[in-house]
Amino acid sequence: MSWDAEQKMQFLFALRSKGVTDARTLGAMEKVDRGLFVKGHFADRAYDDMPLPISSGQTISQPSVVGLMTQALNVQPRDKVLEVGTGSGYQAAILSHLARRVYTVDRHRRLTRECEKLFDDLDLHNITILTGDGSFGLPEQAPFDRIIVTAAAEDPPGPLLAQLREGGIMVLPVGQSDAVQSLIKVTRTAQGLEYQELCPVRFVPLIEGRAPD
Ligand code: SAH
Repeated sequence: MSWDAEQKMQFLFALRSKGVTDARTLGAMEKVDRGLFVKGHFADRAYDDMPLPISSGQTISQPSVVGLMTQALNVQPRDKVLEVGTGSGYQAAILSHLARRVYTVDRHRRLTRECEKLFDDLDLHNITILTGDGSFGLPEQAPFDRIIVTAAAEDPPGPLLAQLREGGIMVLPVGQSDAVQSLIKVTRTAQGLEYQELCPVRFVPLIEGRAPD
């Protein structure tokens, strides 16, 4: 079963009220039913604006935070995007409607395996899913037009900054994992990197290495 018109309307209304106003972002989020990415007994909260538990002790991010990050990323139709932290696959599915190609990496094989099937079922064929430590990026696919990190590091990982194309944008949470973090936007200009702080957020930590599962 998928979401009905009423659920969709309320979901989009809540996003707008939290500052997600960009038409393309809202258009992409309208195409992706969050209910398909939340399983088990949290499924009935799928349309609430809150993070929820998924497999492997991870979380699917809060919809308004997904919206604010997507909006800040300002993805263009020809862009090649890297996401670090596939999780449920929800953010990647939204990006797939906005970008030419999406590469998404998670350290948990169990999560990437689940997403492979889900993306296939949803006919999202411009997403490439990989298992590994995404903090090193994907040198063989670099440079990227856009990079989004959905787990918090104390500082933006150097390899990711190095893989951002000139004119490119990276959006990520930074800060200690047990404290409130800041969502930041990094833009690579001809003169170097520009940093902009967006809002306080709370993400699971970016962890080194591939998970043992
Ligand atoms: N974007 C996700 C939410 C991600 S939760 C969604 O839309 O549902 C953060 C994810 O980052 C977790 O799945 C975790 O396994 C992953 N992660 C943490 N450290 C990582 C690393 N170094 N490389 C790749 N993935 C990592």
